[in-house]
Amino acid sequence: MKFYNSLTRRKEVFTPRFDNKVSMYTCGPTVYHFAHIGNLRSYIMEDVLEKALRYEGYDVTRVMNITDVGHLASDADEGEDKMLKGARREHKTVMEIAQFYTDAFFADCAKLNIKTPDVVEPATNCIDDYIDMVTVLLDKGFAYQAGGNIYFDTTQLKRYYVFNDFQEDDLAVGVREDVDEDTNKRSKADFVLWFTKSKFEDQALKWDSPWGVGYPGWHIECSCISKKHLGEYLDLHCGGIDNMFPHHTNEIAQSESYLGHEWCKYWFHVHHLNTSDGKMSKSKGEFLTVSLLEQKGYDPLVYRLFCLQSHYRKSLVFTWENLDNAVTAYNKLLTRIAALNPDTGAEPNKEAAKPYQEKFQRSLDNDLNTANALSNIYDVLKGKNLDDATKLFLLGDYDTVLSLNLLEGAAKMRQAAKTASASAAADYVITAPADAAPELAEKVHDLLAQRGEARKNKNWAESDRIRDELKAQGIELKDFKGGVSWTKA
Ligand SMILES: [Zn+2]
Repeated sequence: MKFYNSLTRRKEVFTPRFDNKVSMYTCGPTVYHFAHIGNLRSYIMEDVLEKALRYEGYDVTRVMNITDVGHLASDADEGEDKMLKGARREHKTVMEIAQFYTDAFFADCAKLNIKTPDVVEPATNCIDDYIDMVTVLLDKGFAYQAGGNIYFDTTQLKRYYVFNDFQEDDLAVGVREDVDEDTNKRSKADFVLWFTKSKFEDQALKWDSPWGVGYPGWHIECSCISKKHLGEYLDLHCGGIDNMFPHHTNEIAQSESYLGHEWCKYWFHVHHLNTSDGKMSKSKGEFLTVSLLEQKGYDPLVYRLFCLQSHYRKSLVFTWENLDNAVTAYNKLLTRIAALNPDTGAEPNKEAAKPYQEKFQRSLDNDLNTANALSNIYDVLKGKNLDDATKLFLLGDYDTVLSLNLLEGAAKMRQAAKTASASAAADYVITAPADAAPELAEKVHDLLAQRGEARKNKNWAESDRIRDELKAQGIELKDFKGGVSWTKA
């Protein structure tokens, strides 16, 4: 597989360190509010990446943290604590807020068919790990104590701005104007590893440490949680592009200084979702969440499809009109799949399917080109050398990566059509011989219901066609007012 590595700014062939084992880390949510669909775009595309790697036979272990402490309103070290802010807003304890929004996050993920990572670790579970790492960083001269806090000393690094897109000027970005700059820092780029002098008197969660009672900085979480579960080497780190700086830059600074060697080789970043007025999380004052989509009658999977239709390294513009277009595309797709017959009893032709699977894999291999992968679905539907059983097999196979409920959605559509025709035929009596075998009776019943429907619509040609089809099977019909009876010759 080839994808764009933010660290080298090139498309590269992905080669994990150990054979086919992939260690994958994802920055999880800060659980102080509902996730907006812009955040969820990252998680959808990371989910596709994980499933694409599994599709190619890699053995993936994926770890995600849950930030339930220490993330300030700015991604740098300034501003209010997000968790505390959420707790104040809702008159709950910080832990209640964390649990509520963690559950809400995974409920949203489930609706979007985002697989839960193999390991999910709340930041508050790993305090000892942070203390260990900070201790080592102090011992090695990569950190200093000032004004009661422990800071990472970025001047000790050969290169701090590892993602070339970012420079010192970017530090100002994300720091709100009404927030004072921290004068304890020796250098502007330095960042907090451990706070003891909290600006918030009522900081709810605090722990004992060699430097006094306090709480960890945000960035240290990911370095420690990744090391705890995935070891000293990480193959693949993902996140939204807004995490690239300072968060991911700081993770690399901490991890590599602690470990003394290169830490993670491949970095995968998903670009922003924007609304037409340029803001990411709101549209005309509405906070865009999965619940809001549902309230407005959208299947969350339509949003997943919407994300898959464009490339993860392009900004995506969200409008309700764009989402409506995705609804149309999704319904058309399911209608075409519903037209395939799932009951032919034929085995899928794996030989014929193989080139289609390879083509699908090539789409994914090409920097996770999901738009192309979606067009492969239409290739299958049009495939002249494929019977229905093979088509359905392939669509199910693709859906292990795309996760659009292609087969389930189509089955529901078939069922709905059946129910509709059954209710239309309810006032049309179909009488079978008492000794008819149940399987035959069901088959004939279905055909006669269709014939009844055709007669209701004065479609005599269809009515005759079905009569002839049954006659060929030795079945004679006798029409009467309001129904039909049949006998087997
Ligand atoms: Zn992180």
